Amino acid sequence: MSGIWVVLEDRDGRIGRASWEALSAGKRLAELTGKSLNAIVIGHNTAGLAEEAATMAVAEVARIEHSLLEHYTADAYTIALDQFIQAKQPGYVVFPHTYQVRDFAPALAARMNEVLISDVVAIGEGPVFTRQLMQGRLTGNYRHHGAGPCFISIQAGAFRADAVATDNAAVTQFEAMIDPDAIRTRPGAPFRGSAQTVDLASAPLIVSVGRGIREADNLQLVQDLADALGAELAASRPICDNGWLPMERQVGSSGQTVAPKLYLAVGISGAIQHLVGMKGSQCIVAINKDPEAPIFEVADYGIVGDLFEVVPALTEAVKAAKG
Ligand SMILES: Cc1cc2nc3c(=O)[nH]c(=O)nc-3n(C[C@H](O)[C@H](O)[C@H](O)COP(=O)(O)OP(=O)(O)OC[C@H]3O[C@@H](n4cnc5c(N)ncnc54)[C@H](O)[C@@H]3O)c2cc1C
Repeated sequence: MSGIWVVLEDRDGRIGRASWEALSAGKRLAELTGKSLNAIVIGHNTAGLAEEAATMAVAEVARIEHSLLEHYTADAYTIALDQFIQAKQPGYVVFPHTYQVRDFAPALAARMNEVLISDVVAIGEGPVFTRQLMQGRLTGNYRHHGAGPCFISIQAGAFRADAVATDNAAVTQFEAMIDPDAIRTRPGAPFRGSAQTVDLASAPLIVSVGRGIREADNLQLVQDLADALGAELAASRPICDNGWLPMERQVGSSGQTVAPKLYLAVGISGAIQHLVGMKGSQCIVAINKDPEAPIFEVADYGIVGDLFEVVPALTEAVKAAKG
């Protein structure tokens, strides 16, 4: 068994941020194990993606190519990666924990009598892979045993995408053999999110509101605080699901990933799906009436109190400080 191979995902012809974060996790694994770090791009006509990947400090970029890989199907991806793994015998196969990976990677691992250690948030000596359980209230450490490759997927926001050094890697090509009859699904048009007019990802200050606000009419309270600070307003998923704020303001695993200088979480419990979208923030302040709320575990400053008292007082204090 040799080498660490990170599977990079095609996001509209570019490699997405989650894949660079997975590569960063691969780098950590390479430092711990002394194994070489390599990357995989998969699809049809992957030259552009491979070129982008080859600018990173990896030993090799492998293009897994087949015309039936042009549009994603779980069967074709599983078959092609299975063949590649049989040929290369990697020690570790690392994925970003995307919806696509969740769809095919467990089947790929099972095909090899392995499991996928999914949604990993940290990698320690051993190597030991850390996962969060029970909505982030517990963490579990996992080791891989046995001869087969170890499959892991990396939670969004857990590793820094910019930690991967740049270089010039060799690109190789692997021709997969895929029988069209082995593909049991027919790909439809790719899902397209609505065009985003709010770029939370580059906002330096964010005030984010959760279900603690109780009803839409109360949102003005947090809007006032955001205005006083000069911050963007964001929200947890229930707020957007209720239609109280547009979806583009949602932070989390199915919303935007943000990393502002200040993230002020108001009445947000800190479910894992929310945390993955904001825990890279430089300073996190949480206001919550429940001292046991998981948001306090990632907060730099915590205010245990009723947001209907704390927020107006904070708004006044900010206004007074700004003169
Ligand atoms: C596949 C999937 C994807 C998901 N994607 C996302 C996502 O992208 N983003 C996301 O946010 N969620 C997402 N979720 C939902 C997530 O699991 C949580 O349900 C959600 O984040 C909870 O939102 P919340 O913290 O606002 O609400 P709650 O969990 O209900 O928390 C409300 C908090 O407000 C506090 N509170 C109540 N009243 C007050 C008060 N007066 N003063 C102060 N504090 C008060 C409570 O103590 C509580 O902690 C997803 C779930 C799934 C299954």
